[in-house]
Amino acid sequence: MKPASPDPVRGKLESRLRYYEDLGIRAFYRDRVALQGNTLSSGKMAASSKIAAPPATQERTQEKMPEKMPQQTPPAAKIPAPLQPVAPAQERFAKVQAIAHGPSLFEAAERVEGDTLERISSDLGECTRCKLHRHRNKIVFGVGNPHAELVFVGEGPGHDEDVQGIPFVGRAGKLLTQMIEAMGLHREDVYIANVVKCRPPENRTPEKDEVGTCMPFLFRQLGAIEPKVIVCLGNCAAQALLGTTKSISNFRGQWFDFRGAKLIPTYHPAYLLRNPNAKPDVWADLKKVMVVLGLKPPRRKS
Ligand code: URA
Repeated sequence: MKPASPDPVRGKLESRLRYYEDLGIRAFYRDRVALQGNTLSSGKMAASSKIAAPPATQERTQEKMPEKMPQQTPPAAKIPAPLQPVAPAQERFAKVQAIAHGPSLFEAAERVEGDTLERISSDLGECTRCKLHRHRNKIVFGVGNPHAELVFVGEGPGHDEDVQGIPFVGRAGKLLTQMIEAMGLHREDVYIANVVKCRPPENRTPEKDEVGTCMPFLFRQLGAIEPKVIVCLGNCAAQALLGTTKSISNFRGQWFDFRGAKLIPTYHPAYLLRNPNAKPDVWADLKKVMVVLGLKPPRRKS
């Protein structure tokens, strides 16, 4: 008899679950049992019970942003299993592939019925859940329209953000503001958040345990806002939300499904400050977002 062929959906789910366990988000495993038994309720779960304690120390395996821009975006076939790219043509009506029927892993693990940004912020409190709290000045929760159609997700606060408690207010932030305005929007129209809410020392990349501890709050923020489009700014945000360790240069500018929203990874404004040659790539990505949101660029003043 022929051996049964492996179930590709199950394989993808298992791969993503392994990734989140690495991050210290163990809640998924509890939910996997519930999902298998098809006993998942409407996702009413106490927020506090969803935040898994991170392991004491974990190695960083995140890849650095490329110093050189790729000449071409490699084909989607090189993307690892957890990523679900959408065909690049016809962005507006792009068909987003779902990884499984029923509630997504994010919905299963992080959805809180009737959640609001105020409630999430209050649950976060004066957070001391990870080591980043030791050196922070202010928690940078996120700012903007609580009903935004468009959310930008960065990596983590830098010096200026840590001082002001507001994301993207430093040099990279000014460039992000220009990008938003080039789309015909204002900062107040969109929502801006980060993977981690406290500044990593010396602006280092957030470590896996820090990301794993903070992500449930970002998931809840995205769940409460329910944007149409999420733009991941840079490797850290793209890897954390897509559940991959691949470098963003492999999948920048492609569409992915995230809890029913469309997600597109692009380069971080700080990367653009160091590599202005990459600006056309980012602008191309933002134009795709504008098509999906039905936005027209503002008229240039003559
Ligand atoms: N870089 C980020 O990723 N986030 C900020 O808020 C500021 C700079």
